[in-house]
Amino acid sequence: MKPVIALVGRPNVGKSTLFNRLTKSRDAIVADFAGLTRDRHYGNGRQGKHEYIVIDTGGFEPDASSGIYREMARQTQQAVAEADVVVFVVDVRGGLSAQDHDIANYLRRLGKPCVLAGNKAEGMQDSMHLAEFYELGLGEVHPVSAAHGQGVRSLVDLALKPLALPEIEEEDAGAEKNVIRLAVAGRPNVGKSTLINTWLGEERLVAFDMPGTTRDAISVPFERNGQKFELIDTAGLRRKGKVFEAIEKFSVVKTLQAIESANVVLLLLDATQGVTDQDAHIAGYILESGRAVVIAVNKWDAVDDYGRQQLERSIETRLSFLKFAPLHFISAKKRQGIGPLWSSIIQAYKSANRKMPTPVLTRLLQEAVQFQSPKRSGMFRPKMRYAHQGGMNPPVIVIHGNSLEHVTDAYKRFLEARFRKEFDLVGTPLRIEMKTSS
Ligand code: GDP
Ligand code: GDP
Repeated sequence: MKPVIALVGRPNVGKSTLFNRLTKSRDAIVADFAGLTRDRHYGNGRQGKHEYIVIDTGGFEPDASSGIYREMARQTQQAVAEADVVVFVVDVRGGLSAQDHDIANYLRRLGKPCVLAGNKAEGMQDSMHLAEFYELGLGEVHPVSAAHGQGVRSLVDLALKPLALPEIEEEDAGAEKNVIRLAVAGRPNVGKSTLINTWLGEERLVAFDMPGTTRDAISVPFERNGQKFELIDTAGLRRKGKVFEAIEKFSVVKTLQAIESANVVLLLLDATQGVTDQDAHIAGYILESGRAVVIAVNKWDAVDDYGRQQLERSIETRLSFLKFAPLHFISAKKRQGIGPLWSSIIQAYKSANRKMPTPVLTRLLQEAVQFQSPKRSGMFRPKMRYAHQGGMNPPVIVIHGNSLEHVTDAYKRFLEARFRKEFDLVGTPLRIEMKTSS
């Protein structure tokens, strides 16, 4: 599981600026998708061999007592409680404030690893400005400039250091063992535990022992028609004996971690509720993670024809960025439509790990260009030469040539559709990158 860093601090100290720095690489990818609702408060980052999740806790009011502030404080406290390490951001230009003291008191009581970041420290020669922050009783202040990127790398090193993290394994361990790690993600009450228990009650499912999992481990290994799966314990779910139970509190952090550690994510929606903001956020995380995904609309038994039409339309508009995902309409309670989910899950897994040989990719590229060549842009005519596979899970196709920065999005979509068709890629994102040599 990726470690979680929570950014905490009063308004205007530079938390969101720091957040953007820490999550920069991923944002660039996600920005390409139209219609994607993004919750800017959660993001992924990577430094060297370590990946992490960052939470920007937004408005932190330790003793907000009512209304929306109270709800925000509750969410912030949950996020902080679930984080592995807290980065407390203060403003060294603005100086120490009473609110900083309140937050420090709260964090000290929590007894969680905490790093104090003195932001807006660019161009400060002396350490005088930093000295007063020792008063907070949280140790040394680390000067950073989120706006200019100074000190940010060492801040991350410092934050991750006490966690003794394993390095990222470049080879996917699950893929090697041919076990599909599956996460069922969705907001509370969409029917996650009902579906999982229906599955686990099926006769065709055989539990098996997997090295490294114990009886009370949070995942369930099982086999179905010769294919091994590992069901990952998801947000809002807990295993109790032989069955899964919904727990009350929904956790974005756990959802993110489950999505990240899965090979395939089954996104569950509730037909009686339509596509809500929270659904769209979870869908956004799945896209951002690059995981293979299958969508299932549950409680199909509880809506009439009109409701079904409405729902199909709202999926089309609100989840348009996941249109590569197979869509199923099911009733977990009545056991309708759930068998076909398996073949979609396996297909998505295989698509995500498809090998695409360079000669085939290059031939397809040339055929596509012959059928329709990319438009000239001013003086430039993009010239595509060859393509190779730049990665798996999700698959990445790298196209080499000249003036490729002038290739339009529409043309990229045209190429994507051709590659998808040829390699039978269903249920996985496909990334196309352009490498220009002049
Ligand atoms: P948040 O409310 O804590 O999320 O703070 P923001 O990230 O929105 O930043 C508040 C203000 O501080 C903005 O005007 C930023 O441009 C500015 N700011 C953020 N980081 C720095 C920095 O490193 N140096 C300076 N001088 N200003 C910064
Ligand atoms: P979770 O919080 O996502 O795990 O959701 P649960 O599995 O606890 O289900 C929430 C509620 O939806 C329960 O009352 C279930 O009985 C109900 N439910 C689950 N699946 C279906 C379904 O297919 N049809 C209908 N009508 N209700 C369902």
